[in-house]
Amino acid sequence: MTTLPAKLQAVLARIAAAARQFGRQPEEVRLLAVSKMRSADCVRAVAAAGQLSFGENHVQEGVAKARELAPLALDWHFIGSLQANKTRLVAENFAWVHSLDRLPIAERLSAQRPPSLPPLSVCLQVNVSGEASKSGVAPAAALPLAQAIAALPRLRLRGLMTIPRPSTEFLEQRHAFRELRELAEQMQAAGLQFDTLSMGMSDDLEAAVAEGATLVRIGTAIFGERTTA
Ligand SMILES: *Cc1c(COP(=O)(O)O)cnc(C)c1O
Repeated sequence: MTTLPAKLQAVLARIAAAARQFGRQPEEVRLLAVSKMRSADCVRAVAAAGQLSFGENHVQEGVAKARELAPLALDWHFIGSLQANKTRLVAENFAWVHSLDRLPIAERLSAQRPPSLPPLSVCLQVNVSGEASKSGVAPAAALPLAQAIAALPRLRLRGLMTIPRPSTEFLEQRHAFRELRELAEQMQAAGLQFDTLSMGMSDDLEAAVAEGATLVRIGTAIFGERTTA
């Protein structure tokens, strides 16, 4: 069995190879290790190999790991759907939220962010594929929502995030990521400032890097297949 540190190195090598292939610097692409449904011990093993940013999509599970591993000073990112009754836990325990798509949730996070912590970094989740079942704001509604979020005192708008419809075709994968990049460029032209395109997972990170991802969210390729959804 390949060890977790070896899998982490393999993912970093994939990111670096894709960056070079598409004329970018490997340092421009940050790796978020998605540790949902993995034990704190698995996170420890990956952290010991130098990976410090981890993503979780369930509030209680993520908070439990963040508290257990607090001495490691890791950087926790919330990437799942967020209900109003869980915003306080997220505001108190995470450094980032990638999955913001509603102003009331953003307002709660801003109001609940403890004064002792820096502003919460947030990405607006955009539904580029237009799938009815997916969360994320429609591209046409993204600018006004991002402007409202950027005005909240205890949030820092970092950029856009997307989870496109899964595809095994490289060009199709690129197409969805290109849509997010072009939307980001339009929003920046309209005066918003941010630095992050959170896009790309285990099966499409190369396409995301080709289209300008600055952060890829990788679970399976580091930790192996998850046993349940
Ligand atoms: C699970 C998850 C990932 C990681 O997916 P893999 O295919 O395991 O790399 C990335 N982003 C989000 C939002 C996720 O929920």
